[in-house]
Amino acid sequence: MNIKMVDLVGQYLKIKDEVDAAMQSVINTAQFINGAKCKEFSANLANYTGAEHAVTCANGTDALQISLMALGLQRGDEVIVPAFTYVATAEVIALLGLVPVLVDVDWATFNIDPSKIEDAITPHTKAIVPVHLFGQCADMGRIMEIAKKHNLYVVEDNAQAIGAQWKGMLGGRENPKSGTIGHIGCTSFFPSKNLGCFGDGGAMFANDEVLAQKLHCIANHGQKVKYHHSIIGCNSRLDTLQAAVLDVKLQHLDEYIASRQAAAAYYLQELASVEGIELPVTADYTTHVYHQFTIKVRDGKRDALKEFLAGRDIPSMIYYPLPLHHQEAYRDMAVVVGGLENSVELSGRVLSLPMHTELTEEQLHYICRAIKAFYR
Ligand SMILES: *Cc1c(COP(=O)(O)O)cnc(C)c1O
Repeated sequence: MNIKMVDLVGQYLKIKDEVDAAMQSVINTAQFINGAKCKEFSANLANYTGAEHAVTCANGTDALQISLMALGLQRGDEVIVPAFTYVATAEVIALLGLVPVLVDVDWATFNIDPSKIEDAITPHTKAIVPVHLFGQCADMGRIMEIAKKHNLYVVEDNAQAIGAQWKGMLGGRENPKSGTIGHIGCTSFFPSKNLGCFGDGGAMFANDEVLAQKLHCIANHGQKVKYHHSIIGCNSRLDTLQAAVLDVKLQHLDEYIASRQAAAAYYLQELASVEGIELPVTADYTTHVYHQFTIKVRDGKRDALKEFLAGRDIPSMIYYPLPLHHQEAYRDMAVVVGGLENSVELSGRVLSLPMHTELTEEQLHYICRAIKAFYR
C-alpha cells in the first residue's frame, strides 16, 4: 500500500512539467537571488491571501523573528504564546531577549484559549502570537478584541494554515484569510507545509504599508538604499528557484486544500463510531485546511495505537510530545500562566494520521480499518 505521512514525490510528479520549466527558466537567467520571480510570487501571494503586502524571507522561523524585530519590542517585553505549539514560536521570542508567556490551549481546537489570555497580561506585555495549529484559525475575533483593549500587537503564526479562512466579518473585511488578520502574519514554505517549496522558505503578511516596508528592510540587512543600513536587520531571502516552484504550486493550493479536506471528511465519517478516540473539531468561525489530521487517543493507548499502525505499515506522528514548559530549554525561562492542563494532557494523547494531497480512498479505507481493528 506504501502509505506515507506526506507524499511530496507524488505531488511533484503531477505538476512536474510546470515546475521543471519554471526552475529551468530561473537557471537560464542565473538570477538566483532577488530574481524577477521573487517579486512576481510576492504579488501573487498577496493577491491569493488578500493581504495588502506579502514579504518573502528564508523560512517561517525567520518570518516570526523579523516580525517581532519590526514591532520594536525591547528586552524583557513579554509576548503571549500558546504552550502547545512547535518550538519556533517561542524560540524567536527568547532569542530576541523577550519573555515567552505561555497560555493554555482550548481542548477542542488545540489553539490558544482566549479566555485565558487576559490573566497573562501585565504592564510588560507587548504582543500575542496565536498559532493556527494543524490548519484552522485560532479565535481571532476574541484575540483581536483583547489586543485592541490592551493595546497589544498580534503576530499570527500561520505556518500550518495558509489558505484557511475566517468565516464572517473581521477587522472590516469579509472572510479574511488566516495570516492577514493580525498586524503581521507569518508563514512557512517548509516542504511538508500545505504550500511547500523544495527547501526552506517563508513569508510575512501585513496590511500596513510602513510596517511591510520595515519587514522588507529588516530581512535585507536593514537597508532601504543599497549599502546604507538604517536599522539592524538580518539576511533572510527566499531564493528565486524556490519562488519559481512556489509560484507554480500556489496556483494549485486550492486543489491541494480540497484534497486534504476530502481525506479529512473520509476519516471523520469512517472513524465517527470509534469510541477510543476523539476526532478533530473545526470551530464554527473558521475553515480547516488540515495541515494535520490529529486525533486524541483516550485511556493511555496512544503509543500502543501508534505501534499497532506501524505494524501494518501505517505511519503516524506525535505533534507535539511535550508542551513548551516541559522542554528543557524553556522550563526555567518561560513564564507559565495557570496549570496549562490541556497542553499537558494533549501532548500525551495526540496522534496525527497520514494527511496529504495524494491519499487514495483505498489507503484511507485501509488506515480506518486498521484503527477499528485495534479497538476490536
Ligand atoms: C513549521 C513551523 C514554523 C517554522 O517554520 P520553518 O520554515 O520550519 O522555520 C513555525 N511555527 C509553526 C507552528 C510551524 O509549524
